[in-house]
Amino acid sequence: MITERLPAHTPDSAAESIPRAAAIIRSGGLVAFPTETVYGLGANAFDAPALARIFEAKGRPTFDPLIVHIADRDDLARLFSEVTLADPRVALLADLFWPGPLTLVGAARTEVPGLVRAGLETVGVRLPRHETARALIRAAQTPIAAPSANRFGRLSPTSAEHVLEHLDGRIDAVLLGESTDIGVESSVVALDGRWPARLLRHGGIPLEDLEHALADHGGIVAAAPTARPGTPLQAPGMTESHYAPVVPLVLVAADFPPDVSECALLAPDRATLTDLEGRAAAAGATVHARVALSEALDPVAAAAHLFERLHELEAVLTRRAAPTARIIAAPYPEGGLGSAIADRLRRAAATPQ
Ligand code: AMP
Ligand code: MG
Repeated sequence: MITERLPAHTPDSAAESIPRAAAIIRSGGLVAFPTETVYGLGANAFDAPALARIFEAKGRPTFDPLIVHIADRDDLARLFSEVTLADPRVALLADLFWPGPLTLVGAARTEVPGLVRAGLETVGVRLPRHETARALIRAAQTPIAAPSANRFGRLSPTSAEHVLEHLDGRIDAVLLGESTDIGVESSVVALDGRWPARLLRHGGIPLEDLEHALADHGGIVAAAPTARPGTPLQAPGMTESHYAPVVPLVLVAADFPPDVSECALLAPDRATLTDLEGRAAAAGATVHARVALSEALDPVAAAAHLFERLHELEAVLTRRAAPTARIIAAPYPEGGLGSAIADRLRRAAATPQ
């Protein structure tokens, strides 16, 4: 893949480059763009296969939730549930700190893809201050999900050169702008119906400013360890950012658990699903639902709807089966994006029941 370089240093060059970048986003591609914190790697927040490609390009071995970037406050209604929209703290913090380096986490509308939320009920949203970022989002006419535009485990990129060093040939385009001016990620605040608010990640807005703002609204507690001022936190790794299925999931490689009489089946591809069905039948287990993550092994297609499929299987078993029912999953083959899917299934299986 050739990564297009789209100059956006000046108003004239941006005027030419933004429509091209927006067209790439609309057609399901990936565009890296400058924000005031770090460069983001953006995709249409409502296009599941495009979201899967973000993780593939980054080489991320896990699915972390993605921050969704909007250009106008009105776009919040496409992401947050009615309940969160009515939370007075949302308007308060947005008035004070948007546009800027603050991410608000609230209850998600059901339309928000599972991959954006890493399977959680919540979504993180930010309205960046950077003009190029906002112009891109407006032109694309969709909220843009974007983690930092670096390869997994590397430093966050504060210049277009960093982005190209990591991602040249792996993404469709990069908007070449100035270096970012803040250089640390956004502060992440959870307003998910609980009081006080919780700081999930330290970032561009100091905790003291958030405490001051929320003093008359239940305050805020730091859920994240404090970093030394000015040092970016490398791994947010928030314990709460991991989806765990309600129905226990069992990973089986070649056999079938003898004590499972009711189940739903999940397999990487059609052939493995057929094999798994045979094993379930031989074990005398009732199969209530079955899913192949893709027809042939296609990690992008599989990742795109992984969380939705897990939720569906969970819903079927909760409705129709005994509490002893299990989701029986065949492991996903390791390698590239497949490793992130495999990791997610292992974590789901490891969830203490
Ligand atoms: P990055 O990938 O560098 O943009 O960082 C994104 C981080 O934002 C995640 O790893 C989380 O720490 C945080 N975040 C985004 N969305 C959520 C959410 N729904 N719930 C909790 N944390 C979130
Ligand atoms: Mg990052």
